[in-house]
Amino acid sequence: MSDSRSSDGAKTNFLRQIIDADLAAGRHDEVVTRFPPEPNGYLHIGHAKSIGLNFGTAEAYEGRVPARCHLRFDDTNPETEDPEYVESIQRDVEWLGYDWGDHLYFASDYFERFYEMAEGLIRDGFAYVDSQSEEEIRQNRGTVQEPGTPSPFRDRSPEENLDLFRRMQAGEFADGQHVLRAKGDMASPNMKMRDPLLYRIRRGTHHYRTGDRWTVYPMYDFAHGLEDAIEGITHSFCTLEFDNNRAIYDWVVEHVRPTPDAEPGAWDPRPHQHEFARGNLDYTVVSKRKLLKLVKEHHVRGWDDPRMPTIAGLRRRGVRPEAIRAFWDQMGIAKADNSIEIVQLEQAIRDDLNHEAPRVMAVLRPLKLTLTNWPEGETELLTGDLWPHDIPKEATREIPFSGTLWIDRDDFQETPSKKWHRLAPGAEVRLRQAYIVRCTDVVKDASGEIVEVKAEVDLDSKSGTEGAKRRVKGTIHWVSAEHAVPAEVRLYDRLFQVPNPDQVEEGQTFLDHLNPDSLEIVEAQVEPFLKDAEPGDRFQFERTGYFAVDPDSTPEKLVFNRTVTLKDTWAKQSVQAEPEQAESKPKPKPQAPAAPASPRDPAAGLSADARATYDRYIDNGIGQEEAAVIAASPAVVRFFEAAAAHHEAPAVANWTVHELLGRAADPAETPLTPEAFAGLVKLVDDGALNQRMARQVLDELLDNGGRPADIVDRLGLAVVSGDDQLGPIADDVIARFPDKAEAYRGGKRGLIGFFVGQAMQATGGAADPKRVR
Ligand code: ATP
Ligand code: MG
Repeated sequence: MSDSRSSDGAKTNFLRQIIDADLAAGRHDEVVTRFPPEPNGYLHIGHAKSIGLNFGTAEAYEGRVPARCHLRFDDTNPETEDPEYVESIQRDVEWLGYDWGDHLYFASDYFERFYEMAEGLIRDGFAYVDSQSEEEIRQNRGTVQEPGTPSPFRDRSPEENLDLFRRMQAGEFADGQHVLRAKGDMASPNMKMRDPLLYRIRRGTHHYRTGDRWTVYPMYDFAHGLEDAIEGITHSFCTLEFDNNRAIYDWVVEHVRPTPDAEPGAWDPRPHQHEFARGNLDYTVVSKRKLLKLVKEHHVRGWDDPRMPTIAGLRRRGVRPEAIRAFWDQMGIAKADNSIEIVQLEQAIRDDLNHEAPRVMAVLRPLKLTLTNWPEGETELLTGDLWPHDIPKEATREIPFSGTLWIDRDDFQETPSKKWHRLAPGAEVRLRQAYIVRCTDVVKDASGEIVEVKAEVDLDSKSGTEGAKRRVKGTIHWVSAEHAVPAEVRLYDRLFQVPNPDQVEEGQTFLDHLNPDSLEIVEAQVEPFLKDAEPGDRFQFERTGYFAVDPDSTPEKLVFNRTVTLKDTWAKQSVQAEPEQAESKPKPKPQAPAAPASPRDPAAGLSADARATYDRYIDNGIGQEEAAVIAASPAVVRFFEAAAAHHEAPAVANWTVHELLGRAADPAETPLTPEAFAGLVKLVDDGALNQRMARQVLDELLDNGGRPADIVDRLGLAVVSGDDQLGPIADDVIARFPDKAEAYRGGKRGLIGFFVGQAMQATGGAADPKRVR
């Protein structure tokens, strides 16, 4: 019932199956969805799921039938709504890469119509004004076991109801003195159907758009279905907790007259509500009310504080919209509630940044390293790769090297532990992209703190030369002191200390679970290449994590946010704390075995054997993260090395860690052979398959084995990348969507994703997306 793949490889889900059935049966000949936020806060990661579902569904059908998605502000509550939120929501939806075109709506624009429709219900005898107090209404609603007691005001005449309702709006009554209720069924087993409230009085409140025009305001249950019906929505998706509200939704849609002359319920199309599971994340809260509290009480610096699970916070932290979309795409749309582990979001962010963030060096906690035999005053300009070998991008930058460097305090131990592979008195270490050095001396200040380390450099060991080939156990990063640029680096950790902050003891609130160490600020030294980095730029600081330039950054004072560490630093802790809790979350992919590690050393925690394997892999140009994950498991090592005999090791390692292990924790237990796996990676490297096709082939290999080339033939997969083929396809897409093309030319650059998506669809996913772009 949750997620499966349709024959064309596109993601499908049970909601799309419903739509397909509706189209096939002729119930609808178009697909119209909507994302209906209430502007009472900023959007959060949970909303991104709903946005992706609604806009993504419309996009998926566009081209087959008329399809669109509305952005509608469900602003029916005057007390909590604010134009600031309206703006932020539009910005966030657009940033996520979705486009509502001309379809921007406000529920408050329908207030006049809602009011007329309510009068219509009264005239038709379907609604009445109840004058019981709130408490009486609650008491008389009954219980799950017992039916409710009808209100003594239930049989008022339409005339009397109309008069009272008009006087409610005229401001003659206090809040709560009267309410408008539907004549539902006081004995219904669905408590929500026991004469639900339709309108209430909110005297003296000021609505941010309609001002003081209204005294009565519609309830969600009255308004929502009508908003959908008025806009011609065909499929209205909402989260599971509205399951019981579906009956009212239907009741309202069926009893209200679209216009005073029309029959009750004569809507075309007639919208239907379908529920899907809310996305919940552990170690965070996704309730706007609670997020508002965090902001208002200054537990965070604002809605866009990078620790917040808001879209604005994630953006500021350095997360790309592609990662958020990919994350929800991987999680799928299910019909059962689930809580998703935040490590899965973090992994999606790493997987995305892995090929988007160039790799540079930054020292977070600087310790001076003096090279005693380096020619005094001399600077050598080294050339360093910005991308590892397995990323199909090539670029370098110059890194000045000199006799005085900064290294990270954490990379030095005066009395090293047994497994220590980094710098220590007498020990050798490789300086990344540079030379091998041996520590000769330690300098301390009066208090005994180490303030400087002295070392001799092996001048024949420069990276890339023959002399560099000798074995040294550890590699550390560094920057040249004279050339480095100081920067403020904000290290974020989880905002909450426990997986479920909503679970509290008597007398506590979720705030009691805040992590007091969720922000640490360090004065770092970064390599001069970063001098001109601008807000939004993203980098991998080697061995440390992914970082993004914060909007607070200026040319005089660089500020970086840590987006995510290179490895899950919490894995070890939580495994120890909760040994048996790991199972039972409905995630589509088993997780790759987590190599326990610290944020600064991907290989920390590996056994001595595994460490040796790791070092060998690093020497072979394999990425640190990939090397650490593979080296941690002997079974994976065996499979990987057998595959790497047939194709380039760095590329095979990347696919092993980022694609294969997510699908099969022990590949040897599947029909996939190492040779076939290597063959698949080669097809990708040769450009014969794009990533999506390759994943499809991989799925097939894991299920049934075989040779990649045969599967490619059988499935008819081939990349379309020639401009002679792509050109006409692109022209056709642009011609089909002239309005969007116009908007793109007018500066709506976010639309590029839409166009690429259309071209991909036109080629059945066969186009090379980079070339299309
Ligand atoms: P909150 O509890 O954070 O206030 P909400 O549902 O009240 O959330 P709305 O502004 O009404 O906030 O939400 C807009 C849309 O986003 C709704 O259709 C809602 O179902 C959906 N949505 C909200 N939270 C989630 C979530 N965690 N997962 C999936 N969809 C969500
Ligand atoms: Mg809501």
